[in-house]
Amino acid sequence: MPDKIEIRTITKKELSDFLVEKGEKKFRAKQIWEWIWKKTITNFEEMNNIPLKIRNFLNENYKFETIEEVSSQDSSDGTIKNAFRLHDGHVVEAVLIPSRSRTTVCVSSQVGCNLACRFCATGKLKMQRNLTAAEIFDQVAWANKLSMKIFDRKLTNIVYMGMGEPLLNYDNVLSSIERITSEESLAMSPYRITVSTSGITKNIKRLADDNVRFELAVSLHTASNTKRSELMPINETQDLGMLSDAITYFHQKTGKRITYEYLMLKGINDSIPDAIKLAKFCKIAPCKINLIEFNSIDSEYKKSDMEIMEKFANHLEGYNLIVNIRRSKGKDIDAACGQLANKTS
Ligand code: SAH
Ligand code: SF4
Repeated sequence: MPDKIEIRTITKKELSDFLVEKGEKKFRAKQIWEWIWKKTITNFEEMNNIPLKIRNFLNENYKFETIEEVSSQDSSDGTIKNAFRLHDGHVVEAVLIPSRSRTTVCVSSQVGCNLACRFCATGKLKMQRNLTAAEIFDQVAWANKLSMKIFDRKLTNIVYMGMGEPLLNYDNVLSSIERITSEESLAMSPYRITVSTSGITKNIKRLADDNVRFELAVSLHTASNTKRSELMPINETQDLGMLSDAITYFHQKTGKRITYEYLMLKGINDSIPDAIKLAKFCKIAPCKINLIEFNSIDSEYKKSDMEIMEKFANHLEGYNLIVNIRRSKGKDIDAACGQLANKTS
């Protein structure tokens, strides 16, 4: 008996061919497809308009390698962090972040991360493997159901800012987005999806060549090469010169604005000369800057004072740059950016 195939890796045509080969009607493929991608169910039993005989065929040939909720934590600010066990036992986390008008989910793309940024809890976990497109999709489907249940509205935004480096899992991340945005699935707008990268330059260019429509965020954190290499080892091989080339290319090809994530670290990257350097770097393409409050992860770094953050922001605004100060949510449950490290598992 051949190994069963994860049903969410096959195309609708393959499903339809399989059914026809078994002597069944083509329209069953449409019904099954809808169960899988629109209703986002992850077992064959629930497909109650599909005859048992067909469900048995499916069960004999296909499987769902789904994610299983192992724990859930609620923050006092409404943020909900969930840990999920993957079929092979690894655990990843996703975070639901509600605000007045939006519900955002922050999804993981890898188990751990090898890039070892010095300020990030995930970077302390060795990368075990890439998530499949279905495992990423499942986090979104979970968030969508929870949002409906708690807030009576669909999920509005998705950020690929959980565990892992999305651009080192390029194919699966893109195929998860293809599903999420498909009319036959959740039909979410690509403009409400943001993929965040530490700056994998080759793949930023690949995104441009693939003419993606979702938003790109680059975790810049400093416009000084020396400082960036200290904070982020990736900068040693892919420095700011290469990053700025890739960003310029991305903007030229897609016409899109870039979002920069800039973590504010006390005494490290929060001075006025740092702001001037950043403003200069930002000239390469239209952009928006998010100044992020650092979340403590027992490292040597401290967060910048709010007063300093405001001064830094004002200075950047003097260059006509769009700047937001981002206070992190879910800090009391380690659900904030950079804190995802499976502490509950
Ligand atoms: N690997 C990707 C996406 C996941 S990290 C990337 O680096 O962009 C998502 C965001 O969380 C990044 O901007 C990252 O720099 C930020 N981050 C990491 N550690 C953090 C911390 N301790 N406090 C606040 N933000 C942090
Ligand atoms: Fe990896 Fe992003 Fe954390 Fe750096 S900040 S270690 S790239 S998850």
